[in-house]
Amino acid sequence: MTRDRASSGLPATIALGSNLGDREAILRAAVGELGTTGGIVVDSVSSLYETDALKPDGVDLTAPAYLNAVMTVHTTLDPHALLRVLNTIEEAHDRVRAERWGDRTIDLDIITFGGLQQHDETLTLPHPRAYERAFVLAPWHEIEPNAELPGRGPIATLLAATYESPRLYSRWSR
Ligand code: ATP
Ligand code: CA
Ligand code: CA
Repeated sequence: MTRDRASSGLPATIALGSNLGDREAILRAAVGELGTTGGIVVDSVSSLYETDALKPDGVDLTAPAYLNAVMTVHTTLDPHALLRVLNTIEEAHDRVRAERWGDRTIDLDIITFGGLQQHDETLTLPHPRAYERAFVLAPWHEIEPNAELPGRGPIATLLAATYESPRLYSRWSR
């Protein structure tokens, strides 16, 4: 899904994931909610991909699989304000934070915000693990094949170096 209308603000890339509940409905609802948030214009949304759950000890085939997608937006919000919007949407979909990388109804991460490279206690940009995650790089590559991850280089090169293969689950359609 790509939108043509002119956008203002800075470009940002957002990764979406869900492995609990009606995963597809939750991700679609989140995209809709972001699109109706003031200061955010959705430019493009990837297809949905399915990936085995990753836990701190490795792939966990006993956990429900994830659906993942990546979207590009333009926003006049600052990065922390965008993160607060994402956290509010997560809470609205009953996101619970129990264990690290635990099962969740929804996870919304800021992957890039313009070309910004920064780190503080609530926000690291670009997302510090995006460069090695096929479930982020594959959907992102679908919608922006020539994108670069600031400090890491072309996402096509990063994607080629990953081992997992996210499975195409469904095309985006509104
Ligand atoms: P991972 O960060 O490895 O993808 P996760 O998404 O499961 O793990 P969360 O519990 O959702 O981790 O978030 C932990 C904290 O990460 C949040 O409280 C948030 O402040 C912080 N954070 C730092 N950088 C980012 C970013 N770029 N996008 C989203 N959250 C971030
Ligand atoms: Ca995450
Ligand atoms: Ca997160």
